[in-house]
Amino acid sequence: RAAVTARDLVKVYGTGDAAVTALNGVSLDFASGTFTAIMGPSGSGKSTLMHCLAGLDTVTSGSVLLGGTELAGLGDTRLTLLRRERVGFVFQAFNLLPTLTAAQNITLPLDIAGGRRALDPAWRDRVVDTLGLRDRLRHRPSQLSGGQQQRVACARALITRPDVVFADEPTGNLDSRSGAEVLSFLRMSVHELGQTVVMVTHDAAAASYADRVVFLRDGEPVEDMPEPTVERVL
Ligand code: ADP
Ligand code: ADP
Repeated sequence: RAAVTARDLVKVYGTGDAAVTALNGVSLDFASGTFTAIMGPSGSGKSTLMHCLAGLDTVTSGSVLLGGTELAGLGDTRLTLLRRERVGFVFQAFNLLPTLTAAQNITLPLDIAGGRRALDPAWRDRVVDTLGLRDRLRHRPSQLSGGQQQRVACARALITRPDVVFADEPTGNLDSRSGAEVLSFLRMSVHELGQTVVMVTHDAAAASYADRVVFLRDGEPVEDMPEPTVERVL
């Protein structure tokens, strides 16, 4: 079963002479329980694809199905609900709230969901322990290393047990050891927790943690590589 499906996605920014075609007919299936890396040169459409798949940006034509639901035609309210219930986000900039502790940042999506998603303490413990955050829960973001902050952001993305996690350069700000910890966790969350992860990255080492790499060029998939290795991605 596909957790996310893109069919003939076209995204054009602007109009007339200023029009830029960022996605030029993208069709991809992201199977449930798989970890896919999206790679490609700057400007090839990686961020746009991720934003369209996540329902953060509207498409010009074509369709996106998230867990079988067609995004086009959903009103803003239903789209927001769908994202809150089904999708987790990990961004490069962490987006942690500085005045909250790690524990409070992690459970923030549950507070925002306002009771539609109750805290499952066993799940929280599993996420927190797997990410090695048990003894950091009372710390505020400024008291954590970059790798620890990114792991808090991962825990926050997973706390609602989303079907799909979108990660945009999740290791972009990290040293290689912290980056490896975050990638190992994303891989584990796919293979042991059944999550579906779609990650944009520039980094061949990061991509080698995925089950599959899709290469974009000029807004189109040009290669679809199963079981990537660093050597083959470079
Ligand atoms: P990547 O993530 O691979 O660097 P992007 O998806 O950011 O690529 O961009 C793809 C193309 O779309 C680029 O030519 C970029 O300049 C253009 N683009 C992206 N976002 C916008 C926007 N909001 N308005 C206009 N053009 C955009
Ligand atoms: P990335 O490093 O992921 O490729 P960019 O630096 O290209 O991201 O873009 C960062 C943000 O700016 C994105 O949200 C993208 O949509 C927007 N953006 C990119 N290119 C343009 C553009 N030419 N005009 C307006 N917004 C853009």
